[in-house]
Amino acid sequence: MKFAILSRNTKLYSTRRLVEAARERGHTVRVLDPLRCYMRIASDGFHMHYKGRELRGFDAVIPRVGASVTRYGSAVLRQFELMGTWSPNPSEAVLRARDKLRSHQLLAAQGIGLPVTVFGDNPDDTVDLLSMLGPPPHVIKLNEGSQGAGVMLTEKPSASRGVIEALRGLYAQFVVQEFIAEAKGADLRCFVVGDRVVAAMKRQAPKGDFRSNLHRGGHAKGIKPTALEQATAILAAQTLGLGVAGVDLIRSARGPLVLEVNASPGLEGIEEASGVDVAGAVIEYVYGQAARSRDAARRA
Ligand code: ADP
Ligand code: GLU
Repeated sequence: MKFAILSRNTKLYSTRRLVEAARERGHTVRVLDPLRCYMRIASDGFHMHYKGRELRGFDAVIPRVGASVTRYGSAVLRQFELMGTWSPNPSEAVLRARDKLRSHQLLAAQGIGLPVTVFGDNPDDTVDLLSMLGPPPHVIKLNEGSQGAGVMLTEKPSASRGVIEALRGLYAQFVVQEFIAEAKGADLRCFVVGDRVVAAMKRQAPKGDFRSNLHRGGHAKGIKPTALEQATAILAAQTLGLGVAGVDLIRSARGPLVLEVNASPGLEGIEEASGVDVAGAVIEYVYGQAARSRDAARRA
């Protein structure tokens, strides 16, 4: 089968591992920089070129597009879909996952547990907005943040108001959440592929921090999530329409709560912590689904 991986950098661990896993299984694979893909859109058909040559005949595409290229990367991905290439994470699903407010609303509507979250637009509403949430501690998160940067903990109402005023002054988008103290600075990353959690790790925040991101100095070890945690992670990925997702959960007194669903989850930390060949699991899943969709198209 012929695979494309949309990635800005062939040297990234995740990209390298996917290429390796595809080749080991006898597939042809090409890494394409989404920003070098250009397209012709017309009602008589969809075409895409790359560095002067036409791209055609790809059975499957695996998007590994970072947050900064979400818009253009999604357009490239949609073009692939229109050309009949199968993607585990369709462009619509990637856009849904990247929009925190929208994904929180969709997850909550499915009955998936989340930390109670509030957001608003007008500074005049800040006091009442916070009253909808309850007393501090509060966790304030930038919508654009990732890897724990832009996640703040406030312990007093005046601190929550101060941070919110400062963020509004910078025209930043953010949400405010209840702080789940009983998570004790730990979260679980569940790597979902299709209808399975293929690997999971528990990340623990360094002493003195509540954020467990590895980029913030957290450390990770492989674990087996409970059946409820696995079911929650799978439902979260499926609700957003993602075949491959990194679902972050925290353990609360009222059960697992979803913090975030990543459409382009990194492989390095999870493969190391769990010892699982996650790249292999992704390639096998994509191969199986793309083959089914190709056969169905032939029969139609
Ligand atoms: P990012 O997208 O930047 O990783 P997250 O929402 O995943 O942001 O938050 C980063 C970390 O902060 C999480 O991994 C978790 O350890 C901690 N955290 C986030 N939200 C809460 C919360 N509401 N209560 C307790 N801890 C939280
Ligand atoms: N690679 C990041 C992670 O695994 C997520 C990137 C994204 O989907 O925005 O946490």
